[in-house]
Amino acid sequence: MKMYPEHLMNNWVSVTPVEEMAKTEYDVLIIGTGAGGGAVTWRLCEQWGKSNKKIGVVETGDFLLPTQAANIPTMTSKREEKYHETIAKPLGETLPDFRGAKQVFAFGGRTLFWNTVSPRLNAFEISNWPVPFQEIEFYYNTAERVMNVTKQYTEGSSFTDIMLKRLHKNGYYEASATPLAAKLCPTLYGHKGSDVFFSSVSFFAEALNHRAVDLAVKTRAVQLLVHKDRVTGVQVISSEKKAYLIKAKKIVVSASTFETPRLLLHSGIKGRAIGHYLMNHSYVKASGKVSRREFPEVLGALGILIPSTLEKPYQIQLRGPDGYFWHHPYEVQPLTKELEIDFLCFGEVEPRFANKVTLDTNRKDEFGVPEISVDFSFSEKDQAIIRQIAAAVKQISLSCGIKLNSDFQASSVCLMPPGDLNHDSGTCRMGEDPSTSVVNKYGEVHGVKGLYIADNSVLPSIGAANLTLTTAALAIRTADYIISQE
Ligand SMILES: Cc1cc2nc3c(=O)[nH]c(=O)nc-3n(C[C@H](O)[C@H](O)[C@H](O)COP(=O)(O)OP(=O)(O)OC[C@H]3O[C@@H](n4cnc5c(N)ncnc54)[C@H](O)[C@@H]3O)c2cc1C
Repeated sequence: MKMYPEHLMNNWVSVTPVEEMAKTEYDVLIIGTGAGGGAVTWRLCEQWGKSNKKIGVVETGDFLLPTQAANIPTMTSKREEKYHETIAKPLGETLPDFRGAKQVFAFGGRTLFWNTVSPRLNAFEISNWPVPFQEIEFYYNTAERVMNVTKQYTEGSSFTDIMLKRLHKNGYYEASATPLAAKLCPTLYGHKGSDVFFSSVSFFAEALNHRAVDLAVKTRAVQLLVHKDRVTGVQVISSEKKAYLIKAKKIVVSASTFETPRLLLHSGIKGRAIGHYLMNHSYVKASGKVSRREFPEVLGALGILIPSTLEKPYQIQLRGPDGYFWHHPYEVQPLTKELEIDFLCFGEVEPRFANKVTLDTNRKDEFGVPEISVDFSFSEKDQAIIRQIAAAVKQISLSCGIKLNSDFQASSVCLMPPGDLNHDSGTCRMGEDPSTSVVNKYGEVHGVKGLYIADNSVLPSIGAANLTLTTAALAIRTADYIISQE
């Protein structure tokens, strides 16, 4: 059978050949199209509108999905998990310290598969950042608006309402419906909202409404070029293994916690903290059951988030029933006598210099760039928090009438492998002191003018909350700073 030509398959976003991009000098060039790269691109396009500024974007991956995976009607939770596993590149085979980590190289990055859980960090968790809290609040508001963050996804669900009442009665006053980046209006005034769950593809859709950008996919940034302490461009390699130089006055690296420090280190950029202070929440899973008879006939989904507090440095999500939460519009739920509830618990992890991403010069990729090594371990304090989580899960179960599954009872915690959670961060952290941080308070690399970073790697601490909303908020702020410098 005749296959469709590739240019037809991928013509839902316009692309620019990299040879063309190599003839242009960009005002801003963005590397990577995940949460950070998408947020920066959107903000620059929105603010610069139809001005003659030139914006370029390079992405090492190809087009994969045109929307967040859960928006695809045939995608069940299990199918999505399997699909992600097939697509993702595991780091774990070579990195035993971080054996759960996986990367997604594709237009949209890992937001094609993220679960869209989008809480804010608590004020006390960012009190030692070099950015005033009021400013972060403003950017949280902006990010939540563009990403459609809402707590109304489970509104009217008796499962969520009843379990929330039980939690509140037992002193978990902070518990609320889970905030999700989900557009709940399918149509409004004749406008269609086909992409319920947000992804970076939606950032690009919003961006392209305002103006065009030059986008090259299957184009890997391999070396940043710096002249007299100022970035001047980047060397990229196309899928045909041809090298090009793309010139830019400003570059924003948004290649992820692993790839951003890799690019900086391979480019010879100096900085004691580059690659260090790697973080990822500890991840404890458990599940238990409640009787179906305790809930009315119309059940709905369970989506509850208990945020961390000063005394409880962990976040707990309750999800259900039976692994069915939000990815199954056409999936029929079986009738059961008991409903399974999942506990997803994230513990705070200290940012420590010893946890790090470094270059392994003995192993090189197909582009000749050294692969990375990861050193990661939990500190005594991190481990104490993991024990606190185990106790909290038992306490919540007892007080809310959830019968914990026996495997959890026996082993006390079910700790997932480090890296599994995709909350990797901190390897190019923000701060005032170049000896303990990589970027300044606006995301600009210390000592290299015009070189910015906007992705998970800039976060100096992550409390116990899912981190992508915070990454997007800071990325938008970096874009605003770039605009203010013009
Ligand atoms: C299954 C799953 C569930 C998740 N659920 C949640 C959740 O509910 N809530 C939450 O907050 N977070 C969640 N996350 C995490 C979230 O997806 C990440 O925090 C977020 O995507 C990180 O954004 P980023 O820009 O730092 O990196 P990425 O999204 O990884 O994007 C990096 C991009 O850079 C590109 N790139 C890399 N190197 C180069 C190079 N050299 N040249 C050019 N391009 C390059 C990559 O191809 C990629 O497109 C989840 C992730 C997964 C996989």
